[in-house]
Amino acid sequence: SQLNGNSPLKPRYVHVNTLKMDVDSAVQELGKLYKVQKDETVPDLLVMPPGSDLHAHHLVKNGRTFLQGKGSAMVAVALQPEADWEVIDACAAPGNKTINLAALMKGQGKIIACELNEERVKRLEQTIKLSGATNIEVSHGDFLGLNPEDPSFAKVRAILLDPSCSGSGTITDRLDHLLPSHSADNKNYDSIRLHKLAVFQKKALAHALSFPQVERVVYSTCSIHQIENEDVVSSVLPLASSLGFELATPFPQWQRRGLPVLAGSEHLLRMDPEEDKEGFFIALFTKTSKLENSNS
Ligand code: SAM
Repeated sequence: SQLNGNSPLKPRYVHVNTLKMDVDSAVQELGKLYKVQKDETVPDLLVMPPGSDLHAHHLVKNGRTFLQGKGSAMVAVALQPEADWEVIDACAAPGNKTINLAALMKGQGKIIACELNEERVKRLEQTIKLSGATNIEVSHGDFLGLNPEDPSFAKVRAILLDPSCSGSGTITDRLDHLLPSHSADNKNYDSIRLHKLAVFQKKALAHALSFPQVERVVYSTCSIHQIENEDVVSSVLPLASSLGFELATPFPQWQRRGLPVLAGSEHLLRMDPEEDKEGFFIALFTKTSKLENSNS
């Protein structure tokens, strides 16, 4: 069906887990079944024709590759963690971006993967096990409950924040809005839900920025809504700048940027459901080395 995320028109993406396999071997192996190309934006991401079905492929079953959409695969790359850093993945399950971080860090350094939901912690642990990464520590609990002043976070240099969102960037959700059953009651429910999500998203982003040694924070959603994207960024900008952060430009060559509703929207990255076949949003904050810069 074209109404679900498995639309036959949507290219398939496979992320090579470079902890277990090199990209050229994956291209060769998957190329026996389908036409495979390297993605032009994300290293280690392979693009295959719409309809390619790899769920049962041995390279997916054994964790040498993971099925992951392009927007999702861009987030850890935008963060650019160095191999020996300590990094927090704040809302981690099922762990796709956690293992992207592990691969980018070449299995070195340390990743603290925080997840609130007990069932989803199990999925996170399964993903980590399948990936073969050994530098990930799972923290079962509320990210907002982590104390930034706790000495155990003193060396954390980067945070990836991919909080719960409406998921409105997926095709299914978008088309739901066109169905007759989408009544005024539903719309009211949607707006209350979006508001609640945005309240958490803002709190979580402000919390991420408050870890003392953190110099890079990436915020992402698979939502198309301004309230979960630009508005969240806009609300934390005063705090961010008082802490010495500014917006940086992830993937500068990417054409589609944030909605022009705040100063600096050109730094933000959007994927468009029509153009890119999925809706996605990424914002990157980086700390300028001297606080005086922001005061001068
Ligand atoms: N980053 C994940 C990935 O790429 O596989 C997807 C994350 S999903 C969009 C958001 C996750 O945040 C959910 O698993 C949810 O249970 C978790 N979550 C929600 N509130 C949280 C909180 N306060 N602290 C930690 N995790 C939370």
